[in-house]
Amino acid sequence: MSSQPFVGFCEPTGAWQDREQALLAHYAMPSAQSRGRRYPEPEHPYRSPYQRDRDRITHCAAYRRLSYKTQVFTGSMGQEHRTRLTHTLEVASLARTIGRVLGLNEDLIEALALVHDLGHPPFGHAGEQALQSCLGDQGHFCHNQHALTLVEELEQRYPEFPGLNLTWEVLEGQRAKVHPQGLDQGTLLETQVVDAADNIAYDTHDVDDALTLGLLHLEELNHLDLWKHAQAAVRRRWTLSDARLFQTAVVRQMIDTLVGDVLHTTRQNLQRHEIRTLADVLRAGRLVRHSQEVSQQQQALERFLFQKVYRHPLLLQMRAQAQEMIGQCFERLLGQVERLGTVFERRAQTHGEAVAVVEYLACLTDEELLALARGAPPRILPP
Ligand code: MG
Repeated sequence: MSSQPFVGFCEPTGAWQDREQALLAHYAMPSAQSRGRRYPEPEHPYRSPYQRDRDRITHCAAYRRLSYKTQVFTGSMGQEHRTRLTHTLEVASLARTIGRVLGLNEDLIEALALVHDLGHPPFGHAGEQALQSCLGDQGHFCHNQHALTLVEELEQRYPEFPGLNLTWEVLEGQRAKVHPQGLDQGTLLETQVVDAADNIAYDTHDVDDALTLGLLHLEELNHLDLWKHAQAAVRRRWTLSDARLFQTAVVRQMIDTLVGDVLHTTRQNLQRHEIRTLADVLRAGRLVRHSQEVSQQQQALERFLFQKVYRHPLLLQMRAQAQEMIGQCFERLLGQVERLGTVFERRAQTHGEAVAVVEYLACLTDEELLALARGAPPRILPP
């Protein structure tokens, strides 16, 4: 075995700055211009600030728990459909693709994508509504805000600070999602790209999963332009008798259409608004958009999904059960917050018991909530 040391194993300090300077467009967010972290830290010798953010998110407990949380369809319906974690990875993958073509900061994009659904409670939006009902007029629960609470307060991994001490840009990108129209003004292109990728991912994978689970049938989609055009493109290329192969080919084509359209329209917007610098981006409204035509097709698909899939009797039944369980668990845990561990005990002191119990329930996986509803004692969540 050669005694030669590894060459290039550890890049010299400054390598990520050079790399970004060579690759990023002038309107991208360079790591070197980050507004930094709430608790100042020395720079890492070979990882950029956004690379560190991404790594901190992928190593945190809330991220791992996404594997066991519902996206749209619960674990009891099978194992092949998307979970909250696989959805998150699809968003990160699509957003990186879009960001790379536009010359944006992919490390920042990845961090934003990996954090975007971190705050989802068990059983998805049904769980979110149930937690909001539990709080009533004592507060407000939304998953976008809960993601911030997790990464700023609840995660306990570092001796020097609470949370993950992420950069201002990642926190601000997530904060923009908390308010309606928050993404329409003064938002980095990296944040806008992740939002567009989120829509593309769930629109297409919800169709895919609903077909696979038998909640939808191919012919029901024929009136939707997005599906119809993708189907025609697939048929021009192949004659596929295998329904599953045909389905995946059409879904793939829809993703290609949506990604291609958002790239084309965004480039046009960058030109039309003469966007040359980061300051130009921050002065402009939303630039990462679909064309009007594709946007209308996407909205038609979303309306269809809402009626046929999200309101499917099986999902409505699941929603009602999840809401009942969450309500019961909330009532049971009120008055015994000391059983939830020191993090939530402290939250009860600063934010009230109802908020602390809701935040605890939001952290649980689907299975943990089911166990709690069946009478198991509350688990103290490891950091
Ligand atoms: Mg999402």
